[in-house]
Amino acid sequence: MTTILVTGGAGYVGSVSVAALLAAGHEVAVLDDLTTGHSAAVPSGARLVVGSYGEQAPVERLLRERGVEAILHCAARSLVGESIIDPGKYYRDNVAGGVALLEAARAAGVGRVVFSSTAAVYGVPDATPIPEDAPLRPINPYGETKRTFEGALRWYGAAYGLRSVSLRYFNVAGATAELGEDHDPETHLIPAVLRAVETGAPLTIFGDDYPTPDGTCIRDYIHVADLADAHLRAIEATAPGDPRTDGGALVCNLGVGGGFSNREVVAAAEAVVGHAIPFTVGPRRVGDPPVLVAAADRAATVLGWRPQHTTLESMVGSAWAWRQANPGGYRD
Ligand code: UDP
Repeated sequence: MTTILVTGGAGYVGSVSVAALLAAGHEVAVLDDLTTGHSAAVPSGARLVVGSYGEQAPVERLLRERGVEAILHCAARSLVGESIIDPGKYYRDNVAGGVALLEAARAAGVGRVVFSSTAAVYGVPDATPIPEDAPLRPINPYGETKRTFEGALRWYGAAYGLRSVSLRYFNVAGATAELGEDHDPETHLIPAVLRAVETGAPLTIFGDDYPTPDGTCIRDYIHVADLADAHLRAIEATAPGDPRTDGGALVCNLGVGGGFSNREVVAAAEAVVGHAIPFTVGPRRVGDPPVLVAAADRAATVLGWRPQHTTLESMVGSAWAWRQANPGGYRD
């Protein structure tokens, strides 16, 4: 049993990861300022502390009081478009706030961190599947600030012996029976498709003239429950003496190593809801690479991670079931 602080544990990925950590017998405290998270999403076995991870002194106190041994750092600003308009917010929260968290950890003697990173650190890849050692050339402040914090973890490893795992998520989707995706605004494709079904809101596919078999972009979708399982394994990999983090920082892609096109996502949603879903094709969205697919073998070999829910139907179907059970999302 390990005592773990999860920042952003009231969010989509964070809450499902909290549930997985609790199910594995760990003790979990959640630190979340609830600006984008939902208190109702925090599993009942975890204690919620409302606050910011970027305030060093209170975070240091919290780490000491709870006897925290490891941190799962999921909290962040994560909207690509917003990051381009308001980069200061991203540098302040994702970089400066993250470093305040690391300083609090250092002061409190917490030497284990697992970090929610992103495929956005790669930018437009030269080739796919993308291995972890591909060049990092982010094309927006969101990806740039995530890359910068990965660098901080690496240097804290070299200087102070911090053990860390950065998990570069590809496209997270799906829900568990209890926990799902409730963002405002919601910019991602699968929720946009399901919202179109629920409300008749117009669905636009951004571009169908990409160099892909059906002309629409291809993304590597990963079920949030599989993602949570990877976090559990990554926390274990930071244990004192574990050779996987003896070098300090470990980086793993989290994707399934295959992709689905935007049209295939709509077709899967049509199969799930049982009727056609009308959409229009609009212009390309700025900054969308045609294909983003992970080279997924490192997470398999190093973390022993095998995604279990790899069909679009399981991802779209579970997201749809959660939305139907929770109309309007979380009630807070
Ligand atoms: N997309 C779309 N319509 C939408 C939202 C997204 O066509 O309303 C496309 C987007 O252009 C990209 C893919 O769906 O090709 C996945 O986008 P998303 O924002 O879900 O994830 P990203 O890959 O950008 O992280």
